[in-house]
Amino acid sequence: MSERVPEDRCGYVSAEDLPEDLGGVCCWRSIWKNNNKCFWHTEKESKSCTELQNAQLNKGERLDGAILKKSAIPPISFADAILWDADFKSSTLSNVNFSNANICNSSFLGADLREADLSNTSAVNADFWHCSLRGADLIGADMSNSRLANVDLRDTDTIGLTIEKANLNEANLKGLMLSNALMTKSTFAGANLSDTQMSQLYLKGADFEGATLKNAKASNTNFSQVNFEDASLVQADIRDSNFKNTRFYQTLFSDTRINSNTDFGDTTAYEDPDIDLGENYEDTSRFEAAAWVYRRLQDLHEENAMSEQAREYHVRKEEAHRSNYWSKGQYFQWFVYTLNRYLTRHGESLKHVVTWSVGTILTCALAYPFAGGISTGNEVFRVGSGAALGGLFLRSLYFSTVTFTTLGYGDYHPVGPAAKALAGAESLAGALLVALFVFVLGRRVAR
Ligand SMILES: [Zn+2]
Repeated sequence: MSERVPEDRCGYVSAEDLPEDLGGVCCWRSIWKNNNKCFWHTEKESKSCTELQNAQLNKGERLDGAILKKSAIPPISFADAILWDADFKSSTLSNVNFSNANICNSSFLGADLREADLSNTSAVNADFWHCSLRGADLIGADMSNSRLANVDLRDTDTIGLTIEKANLNEANLKGLMLSNALMTKSTFAGANLSDTQMSQLYLKGADFEGATLKNAKASNTNFSQVNFEDASLVQADIRDSNFKNTRFYQTLFSDTRINSNTDFGDTTAYEDPDIDLGENYEDTSRFEAAAWVYRRLQDLHEENAMSEQAREYHVRKEEAHRSNYWSKGQYFQWFVYTLNRYLTRHGESLKHVVTWSVGTILTCALAYPFAGGISTGNEVFRVGSGAALGGLFLRSLYFSTVTFTTLGYGDYHPVGPAAKALAGAESLAGALLVALFVFVLGRRVAR
């Protein structure tokens, strides 16, 4: 194709990866000075301002592959232009107008885009690494798949911004008003989101690992399936927000505001085997991570004067420990936790202890008349001894209670090996359950 281009024409051919609806072009502009390409396509740094200022751009101008690196671009307008795969590396582009332009696949590496107008710009797959976009207009822009790592985004307008699957690692978003933006599957690892105000964000699958959200106003936001591991939520306001399946391992909570509508879900992401956690969890058990998270959520609810929920998270934490012991084959510890679960609901439920106590007394009271009976010394009370059933049961209930509480008056004693063994077991169970009662009561009074 280029063979047929006259010598005084540029002949730049657009990139092969262009979407079909754009259509490829061959640049027919006159060559620039002594070069063999036009002004836009000549491979040269620091192009002069006067050439740029005199450039007449039509609506929808095709500037694919334009080379404007290390140039000081005057505040001209590239509005509506096609700048696919253009090179703006290290250029000064402050106040330049890119509104409605197509700058997909272009590189702005290290460029200065302060106060630039990128409203409704299509910047998919673009590279903004280390750029300053401070004060830029990003309303309605599409920066999906773009590299926005280490970018300064302070004071930008972001309403309707799309940054799906974009890389914003270490980016500076301090104090930003993030509203109505689509940020699914984006990464914000180590990014600064302090003092941000979030509303109506779509964040599913976003990654905030190690990010700072200090003092962020993130109430009424859906953070489900977001990763906050190692992130800081110090002084963040997350009232009415949704954190179902959010990853919180090693997250820092302190003075974080929650309310009863803050939804942390019924389980953690760590207990769901269908959720892929990556390689980090080969050494650490998922249950250890879950227990860690529940411990923090317990503290968080206590700080926010929600002791009922705090108790619930204590129980879930102990359950995670129990599952952890089972998965590691530490069956004795598992047994102790299991016993504690059913007897006291991990030290939280007096009702459990009382139910077990009453149940033991009643069961034994019913069992003694069948297991050999009880005797005063003169008379034996057992099924078939001729005593009325009501009186038999009441005596047996009295004996069972005295045995359970280990009072041992000695006015009745068990008859035969079965009744004796049962009485021994009942007094042992009684001693244990009374001790547990005191323990659980003590825990609750201490709070
Ligand atoms: Zn050209």
